Amino acid sequence: MRIQFLGTAAAEGIPALWCECPVCAKAMRDGGRELRRRCSYRIDMDTLVDFGPDAFWQATEFKIDLTKIKRIVFTHPHEDHLNVTDLYWRHTPWFSQVSHPLRIFGSRSIFRRIISCAAADGAAIGFDELQIEKNILEDAKKVVDEDLEILPLRADHAPGREAQILVLRRNGRSILLANDTGFLPEESWTALHGVKLDAAVIESTCGLRYADCSRGHMGANCSVAFRDELLKLGCIRKETPVFVNHFSHNGGANHQDLVEWFAPHGIGVAWDGMVLEV
Ligand SMILES: [Zn+2]
Ligand SMILES: [Zn+2]
Ligand SMILES: [Zn+2]
Repeated sequence: MRIQFLGTAAAEGIPALWCECPVCAKAMRDGGRELRRRCSYRIDMDTLVDFGPDAFWQATEFKIDLTKIKRIVFTHPHEDHLNVTDLYWRHTPWFSQVSHPLRIFGSRSIFRRIISCAAADGAAIGFDELQIEKNILEDAKKVVDEDLEILPLRADHAPGREAQILVLRRNGRSILLANDTGFLPEESWTALHGVKLDAAVIESTCGLRYADCSRGHMGANCSVAFRDELLKLGCIRKETPVFVNHFSHNGGANHQDLVEWFAPHGIGVAWDGMVLEV
C-alpha cells in the first residue's frame, strides 16, 4: 500500500492565513517542509482519506487524477477534512462531466453535513445528482470494498460528531491513520487488540507547547504515549514505522523542531507530499 500525505496541518494550515506568530512567519519565509496544507491522504491511486479545503491545490500539485478516485473515506465532518463545496462540482452536466459514482465512506455525521451544507447554500442537490454512493461507517465494524478493508474506531474528538480513526488494510498490509483524536477511549484500544499494523500515523496537533494535551487532540508527549500503547498491545513492533501528523502552528514548533524532538523516540515527522510504502 502506498500512502501519500497530501496535507499535514490542523484546521488553520501553516502558515495560518491571519497569524503573526513566529511559527507562521518562519513557514512563510522558508517554505518547503514548513508549509502545511490541511490534512488528507491518498491511498494508492484510487482512494482518498478526507477531502478538505486544499483539495484543488493538492490535486494539481500531486497530480491526483480525481476521475480515477473510486472512494473517499472520511474521518469526521470538521471543515478542514470535509469541504462540501468541492463535492458539488460533481453535479452533471452543470459543472462537470462525471460518468461513474464516487463511493463515500463515513459516519452519519458526514452525510448529514453534505446535505445540510447544500440546503444552506440553497442548492437542492441530493446524493443521486452528485453520483455519490453512501456507505455508513459504524464504530469497530469492518467494511470491505473490493480489496480495501476499512476498520473505523471511535476517536476522542468533537463530541457528538462521530469522529473516527481508521485502520486500512490491503494486500495483507495495514496502516493506522489516527488524526483528530486525543488518547483513545477504552473501547477503541480494546478493538485494536489483535490488530497487526505495518505503519502507524499518530496526530500531534498541540506539538511542543502543549505537550501533555491528551483530550480532543494530542501534544508531543501524548503522541509518544499513544505509540507506546500500540507497542504494549502488540499492534506494532519497535521497528514498525511511526509518523506524527496534523500539526497546528499553536503547537509552537516548526518542522525541524519537531524532527529533533521526535527523533530520539524513533518517530518520524510527516510533511506535505511525503510517501510511505507499507
Ligand atoms: Zn483536523
Ligand atoms: Zn501562527
Ligand atoms: Zn477535527
